[in-house]
Amino acid sequence: MSSWVPVPEGSGFPLENLPYGVFDAGIGRRIGVAIGEHVVDLYALADAGLVPHGEALQDVDLNGFLGLGRDVWHEVRVRLIDLLTEGNTAIRDAGIEALYPQSAVTMHLPFVPGDYVDFYSSMEHAVNLGKLFRPDSEPLLPNWRHLPIGYHGRSSTVVVSGTPVRRPRGQVRPGDGPPEEGPTQALDIELEVGFVTGPGNELGVPIDVDDAGDHIFGLVLVNDWSARDIQRWEYQPLGPFLGKSFVTTVSPWVVPLEALTGYLIPGPTQDPEPLSYLRAEGDWGVDLQLEAALASPAMDEPDVIARTSYGGMYWTMAQQLAHITSNGTAIRPGDLYASGTISGAEPGSYGSLIEITWGGRDPITLSDGSQRRYLEDGDTVVLRGWCHRPGLPRIGFGECLGTIVP
Ligand code: MN
Repeated sequence: MSSWVPVPEGSGFPLENLPYGVFDAGIGRRIGVAIGEHVVDLYALADAGLVPHGEALQDVDLNGFLGLGRDVWHEVRVRLIDLLTEGNTAIRDAGIEALYPQSAVTMHLPFVPGDYVDFYSSMEHAVNLGKLFRPDSEPLLPNWRHLPIGYHGRSSTVVVSGTPVRRPRGQVRPGDGPPEEGPTQALDIELEVGFVTGPGNELGVPIDVDDAGDHIFGLVLVNDWSARDIQRWEYQPLGPFLGKSFVTTVSPWVVPLEALTGYLIPGPTQDPEPLSYLRAEGDWGVDLQLEAALASPAMDEPDVIARTSYGGMYWTMAQQLAHITSNGTAIRPGDLYASGTISGAEPGSYGSLIEITWGGRDPITLSDGSQRRYLEDGDTVVLRGWCHRPGLPRIGFGECLGTIVP
């Protein structure tokens, strides 16, 4: 193993990305950043005095570092880019082992979410679900265009990519018959992007929509696994509950918002214009491409079942954060705020199986010849995300993966 860090060619983790994660190379959990196919050990760099704020970087999760705020994140990022630029021999000169192949480490949950919230911010998804769940009424409820709808999820069941997804049991009501209890027969994915918070706010003091950038550290891919039969029976009147809270998977690398500067785009036109506390200056959409892929145990490579973009989301991160704190609620470093299922307008761009198969009516055929309405035991789902535009570095989000077990 070498301490020399090459600048990678064509990798999803270029020098400009430097996503943060928590890895274990057999010596306990450490904070690292990804570059190329490698992970750089920030514990070791801090030990050698090569990076500032070493105390926070020598922790076993990112929460302490997240709480230090935007100026510190920037200071560390600038230092890391300098250290990892070809020609800088400081790491080599220090004589430390600071570089591991990603294939040789185990990734852990990078942050410990005190709270997890899931929004419902894709209009295309909300319309599709409205049609499927309430076929006899307007698909969008009257409040949808006025505020970012969401629900409080369950932080204890947020897990890192690769964690098996146990098929949940629950109460369902088949047709108009009596309710029954048993394993879900409608296990689904939700292709989402989440943001991870930095410094929180004082209880009772809302975060101004134009200060959102001081409180958002970075983004992860999120699979908000959902049991549709449980959800359909339980969700009225108070919203999602056990049909969602059994497990939520996040990708292991948190891509800093600062790495996405070149990919920020205007959000969609909002009609009607939102209330003033939801009107943000600047661009808060992210030109981020997404896909979901599914493999049965018989398949070597997963089939892509959805391609969509985060860029078309109706409600932005800044609006979501301003809205959730508008009543004075306190957020904390390491909280997770997920977007809601991301769907486009076209078939093929739907971020959940309930939309792709239209409630199970139109099953899909996988390349091994088998059909799916919902997930079967042994199925593996992989979410991927990347930003790519000519003249800008490709910013990869890595993978968010889970395999269904009985
Ligand atoms: Mn969701």
